[in-house]
Amino acid sequence: MIAPATGKQIGEIAETPIGKVDSFYQRGKGAFQQWSNLTFSDRASYLLRLKEIIVEQMEEIAKIIAEDSGKVVTEALVADIMPTLDAIDHIVKHGKKHLRRQKVRTPLLLIGKKSFIEYMPRGVVLIISPWNYPMQLAMVPMISALAAGNTVILKPSEVTPLVGKCIEELFEKAGLPEGVVQVAHGGKEVGAAFTNGKPDYIFFTGSVRTGKIIQQVAAQDLIPTTLELGGKDPMIVFADAHLERAAKGAAWAAFTNSGQVCMSAERLYVEKTIFPQFLALLKKEIKNLKQGNDQNADVGSMTFPAQLQIVKEQLEDALSKGARLETGLPPERWANGMYIPLTVVTNVNHQMKIIQEESFGPLLPVLPFDNEEEAIGLANDTVYGLNASVWTNDKEKARRVASKLVSGAVVINDAIISIANHGLPFGGTKHSGIGRYHGDAGLRIFCHEKAIVEDNG
Ligand code: ADP
Repeated sequence: MIAPATGKQIGEIAETPIGKVDSFYQRGKGAFQQWSNLTFSDRASYLLRLKEIIVEQMEEIAKIIAEDSGKVVTEALVADIMPTLDAIDHIVKHGKKHLRRQKVRTPLLLIGKKSFIEYMPRGVVLIISPWNYPMQLAMVPMISALAAGNTVILKPSEVTPLVGKCIEELFEKAGLPEGVVQVAHGGKEVGAAFTNGKPDYIFFTGSVRTGKIIQQVAAQDLIPTTLELGGKDPMIVFADAHLERAAKGAAWAAFTNSGQVCMSAERLYVEKTIFPQFLALLKKEIKNLKQGNDQNADVGSMTFPAQLQIVKEQLEDALSKGARLETGLPPERWANGMYIPLTVVTNVNHQMKIIQEESFGPLLPVLPFDNEEEAIGLANDTVYGLNASVWTNDKEKARRVASKLVSGAVVINDAIISIANHGLPFGGTKHSGIGRYHGDAGLRIFCHEKAIVEDNG
């Protein structure tokens, strides 16, 4: 494994042999009986122990995440470790009320009877996770599935294997009973073998391409899935917005984690009357950002070469069709290993790849719009629908636009942050995915809903 930011060798993790898939499932099924019979509070106490261990080792874990992924240490702390801790807190505090038996109103027809819903854990949940937030995007679904009474097999991304190993060790230290959490290491062949191993549920976070493959495999055995896929999130800035704040927001939303965020701002629409003014503010913000892997850096490197190549090709395509570079360099002048200069382009249109395809890199196309209607039309002109942001001081307009955006979430006068609220459901529409997690939805997806009708007699 090569550290992306420095090019140094940082260790290898042995791949799980495909021949072991069955024994993983047997152990997971065996442990399910005991784990699902524990009370919620008993399961929660293991999660709280896990939290303590993460807090004790926070700095060390952040360094592993940063080294393995190329992100800066602060990003690892704030966006990978903290959301994991928040999720544990939220679930331990609210999980019991979401999972306990719910009494439901009984219709007149069934007079004298009582109706309930029970939430039954599903069994062995397979979680396949990506490399961009390698801790959070593995741990949050794991914690949710475990709290609901399931056992878990995690297949973390081969691109950040040291974080996968670190997660395995954290759970070992938390002392969960044997077989409750198992981690399988390796790439897509290992992922595919586990998908074929008949899990009771699949929770996948990654690319649309792989999400479709997983959905097809799952369909053979009618295995339910959650698919958390990509995004091409629009940010809409109206002339009456607080422009300095919106410019800071755009720089952050587009370039944090080097743009390798499913909820990055990947398309910026600016009202025509303020277009030049806003562009100037945005460029000023970007000038202040420092790329690197030291303590003063704001933005780290790309995580792996294939992703860098995707960004490069999209930018080359746009430039060859007349796009103008406002910040950054043409790809032939990129010189710094896995770092891509923070790039803003104008003179782009909706036929270009840079607008239609997910970039997952520090690449921000900016387009003008004339009015509210046009902005909504442009924002919705995509196969994706994960997150969006609307920037205006007119609250009514903001709400009107938000309600018309086809998107899993909309943030008004801020960006990305909807994921920081574990009380809200998170997930996508269209090609951005199927299903929701976080909040009560995030616990209940890991359960069967069972309807109970009880006679009073
Ligand atoms: P990316 O292209 O961003 O790396 P992927 O969707 O390929 O995203 O990878 C996300 C996760 O899915 C990784 O853990 C990867 O190993 C796993 N994966 C890739 N292909 C398959 C597959 N065919 N079946 C199951 N898991 C897979």
